[in-house]
Amino acid sequence: MSRLSILEFPDPRLRRVAKPVETVTDNERKLAADMLETMYDARGIGLAATQVNQGVRLVVMDLSEARNEPRFFINPEIISREGSQTCEEGCLSVPGIYAEVKRAEKVTVRALGLDGEPYELEADGLLAVCIQHEIDHLDGKVFVDYLSPLKRRMVEKRLRKQQRQDKAEPARA
Ligand code: ZN
Repeated sequence: MSRLSILEFPDPRLRRVAKPVETVTDNERKLAADMLETMYDARGIGLAATQVNQGVRLVVMDLSEARNEPRFFINPEIISREGSQTCEEGCLSVPGIYAEVKRAEKVTVRALGLDGEPYELEADGLLAVCIQHEIDHLDGKVFVDYLSPLKRRMVEKRLRKQQRQDKAEPARA
């Protein structure tokens, strides 16, 4: 397995719409394993292929405390949504920024597993939020898109400053 680098907002590559996977092969399974390692390493709970610059509809997730319950979604599609909830979200592609986003409370998602078999999952709470957040990535959307223009400009400014500081830091051996 190998660790992949994560694109950071406002990278335009985060805006691309990912293509469906036609057949689940070892290539997708390898990508899923690498994405899972990348996500665990970055202490995230979800990661979409778009975030590692891969244009396919693949998402990995693990909401468990012990980090031993990985979930895989290939070509995920929300087939029903119900209610609404507001949750504070963060994103591996928008480091250090957290903001409240309103989303459906319950969703039913249909996807393929790593074995290529279709399955359906009913989710609520944080799992439902995470599914909606990651599918947004596959459609080229980032959670800060839901913020007011003013708030979004503040976020962009803060990130630019952060990125400049990262670059300015001397290399450490
Ligand atoms: Zn994200």
